[in-house]
Amino acid sequence: MTRPIPKSFHVKSFGCQMNVYDGERMTELLGAQGMTAAGADDADLVVLNTCHIREKAAEKVYSDIGRLRRGDGTRPMIAVAGCVAQAEGAEITRRAREVDIVVGPQAYHRLPDLVAKAARGETALDTDMPAASKFGALPRRAKQGPCAFLTVQEGCDKFCTYCVVPYTRGAEVSRPWRAVLDEARALVDVGAREITLLGQNVNAWAGEDERGRSQGLDGLIRALDRIPDLARIRYTTSHPADMTEELIAAHGEIGKLMPYLHLPVQSGSDRVLKAMNRSHSRDSYLAILDRVRAARPDIALSGDFIVGFPGESEADFEETLSLVRRVGYAQCFSFKYSARPGTPAAEMTDAFIPDAIASERLQRLQTLLNEQQLAFNRTSLGKHTEVLIERAGKLPGQMVGKSPWLQSVHLTTDAAIGEIIPVELVSAGPNSLGGAALR
Ligand code: SF4
Repeated sequence: MTRPIPKSFHVKSFGCQMNVYDGERMTELLGAQGMTAAGADDADLVVLNTCHIREKAAEKVYSDIGRLRRGDGTRPMIAVAGCVAQAEGAEITRRAREVDIVVGPQAYHRLPDLVAKAARGETALDTDMPAASKFGALPRRAKQGPCAFLTVQEGCDKFCTYCVVPYTRGAEVSRPWRAVLDEARALVDVGAREITLLGQNVNAWAGEDERGRSQGLDGLIRALDRIPDLARIRYTTSHPADMTEELIAAHGEIGKLMPYLHLPVQSGSDRVLKAMNRSHSRDSYLAILDRVRAARPDIALSGDFIVGFPGESEADFEETLSLVRRVGYAQCFSFKYSARPGTPAAEMTDAFIPDAIASERLQRLQTLLNEQQLAFNRTSLGKHTEVLIERAGKLPGQMVGKSPWLQSVHLTTDAAIGEIIPVELVSAGPNSLGGAALR
């Protein structure tokens, strides 16, 4: 069935920051085709930019597709992008005939061609992982706001036994030094004050600088540090095995590198870490954090945890709790193990942990993590620091911004979005702080 080329579009992204970044790039791409952004209920084209990291996330795609049918029986052109598109490909159009386009995370620069194909009534499926990077085919960055994401590395070679990323995003690829710096300058030109460098394994980034010298992520951060109007630099997500001494040192030497490190560990038990193929031990992980804290004593630490991994005993879980107590996290993400099709851990069915036990363990872990997050926020009370104003708050005259430790700060101020102002932190809650503007 042929249909008119869409005039308007809506991109809905699920999952990680890299999907958010890809969603922003698809928005710029479709905008550069002369299409206008619209709400999901009105758009001629709806792009579902999907996440495959947990069972629920993948199945959710099909219920979202169903919800796109409109009251008058019509529906928009539907594109499924992201990691579910990559993992399931043509299976999606077999299960959901109303899907017009399936495009993987490495091929979305071809979205305009796929839209034209779908309009001609042809099958529009592209889960290719082209050698030539998509980035060169994407338009210049458009205005975002004071905080921007910038993907510098994609894919993963670690093959943790529970994870689909190496299969949906491919092997580790580092974007060229020049391309990253050009995009960073383009983002600063359109108003970004803070840039978060993204990668599934961002600290595995490696490349050559303009003089052909080999550089790691620390070198890239030092180059970004020289961009005048860029005020803050962050990076996520890192792997302990790629935390170099140079990157740790950068935390103590680069003022624009914010005192926040997200370093997933997943478990505190060496036995479980081995079964996860995490290529680090409990002690090597703790030793890294100790060195990071030595370089930047006020750093906020964040991690990821999976509870209920196949075979996890109560003793293993106690090791996770004791590691959490040893570290004292400012923020953390924690989940129950979710079997992902095609991953080695999904075959460990004999060792699966009953859901009730996994839920109870998650409850205990999150109680401890929430206590730590509140405790960390309370240590900020009375501090004089700088807050980057990000958006208007709910109350009259209220603005919301971020502290250097990635805490949300609510304050009354006439400062504009994008300004960085001196603030005293005067109240602390579990998820945010109250501030008093000092100017
Ligand atoms: S490091 Fe492990 S968890 Fe992270 S993306 Fe790679 S395989 Fe997945």
